[in-house]
Amino acid sequence: MLIYEYKLDANKKQIQAIDTALRVVQFIRNKCIRLWMDERVVSQNDLQVYCSTLASQYDFAKCLNSQASADRAWFSIQRFYDNCKNKQPGKKGYPKFQHDNRSVEYKQTGWRLESDGKHIEFSDHCGIGRVRLIGCRDLATFPLPQIRRVRIVRRADGYYCQFGVNAHREIQHVPTTGRLLGIDMGLNAYYTDSEGNTVANPRYLRKAEKRLKRLARIHSKCAKKSKNRIKAQKKLAKMHLKVQRQREDFARKAANALITSSDVIAYEKLSIRNVVKNHHLAKSMSDASWGKFLSWVNYYGGIHNVPVIAVAPNFTSQDCSACGTRVKKSLSVRTHVCHNCGMVLDRDHNAAVNILDKGLMVLSGRQEPVGHAAHETLLDRCASTPVSKGTTGKRSGGKKNPPSL
Ligand SMILES: [Zn+2]
Repeated sequence: MLIYEYKLDANKKQIQAIDTALRVVQFIRNKCIRLWMDERVVSQNDLQVYCSTLASQYDFAKCLNSQASADRAWFSIQRFYDNCKNKQPGKKGYPKFQHDNRSVEYKQTGWRLESDGKHIEFSDHCGIGRVRLIGCRDLATFPLPQIRRVRIVRRADGYYCQFGVNAHREIQHVPTTGRLLGIDMGLNAYYTDSEGNTVANPRYLRKAEKRLKRLARIHSKCAKKSKNRIKAQKKLAKMHLKVQRQREDFARKAANALITSSDVIAYEKLSIRNVVKNHHLAKSMSDASWGKFLSWVNYYGGIHNVPVIAVAPNFTSQDCSACGTRVKKSLSVRTHVCHNCGMVLDRDHNAAVNILDKGLMVLSGRQEPVGHAAHETLLDRCASTPVSKGTTGKRSGGKKNPPSL
């Protein structure tokens, strides 16, 4: 499934209508969750039936195709059950009530895309009506049945419309003379590859921190419920959105550049959730957004048909990449010096070579691969950027290579 995203050019009245729809979705979802909490033995079908009961009780619940909201409640319940069944460590994600719902989803009804692919009309009773789509991707090339769902999302800088298109993307990969790379993710350099090249860490959050702090301070000093507070809140949210977009953009471009320039990628399978538990480094690590980067690497690897291998992280930075001797060192020791063969190499470079070796072992079947389940959630994502202001320029990859049907 490819996701195409457009900004909505909505007027005030339409925005009000969208906000109403968002509230109704939240109401129905919460009602469904409440029902499940009270009665426990509820099936997806029961929730669907419950929706029609709600619609007869509350007038506003009629305006929306509420089945989709019930489905959302059901997904959260289902996920909780699955986590329990799979004995996932830690919290199991017990369904919570929503209080700041930001999206409303439509399946194949309730909307109509105009033949030019630039306007969408919502035909349910919320009164959103016909809205222009701002974006550069051409939706009109897809046959309508391929658009499986439409979702309106509220962000700090406006309203967006996402189209889930059932299509597959594949790109003919041009082999680059068999360049095999291992990459070691780090904080000093974003990553170091097994050829010794590094990519600088952009540290977007660190750079924006001063402004964020200032905006947060202004926000907290404004009187509760005042107009100024709302304004300050908006500014703060926009700044956070900017950092988020910068990170996403960087992760994506770096991943694409990496995949297009190599034929095999091996990376260390880190449990990011555990790594971030280190309080001293947590912010820097989240700022580096390795998870995002690695999911994009996996994604681009998939469409370019480049093997991307996750290897176990044990001793990759300790072992000598030349002779295999284990040289114990703490995090602060930045250079690998082998007392056995005398090799001196940058710590991360040494680790990257080890990661590549492990990856090649996996590729040749001599070692078991490590699953990359943690990164699979993002794999199917591919969002196009609208050409509106505030985004971080062109996204790489997609434009030159339109998705194949
Ligand atoms: Zn050595």
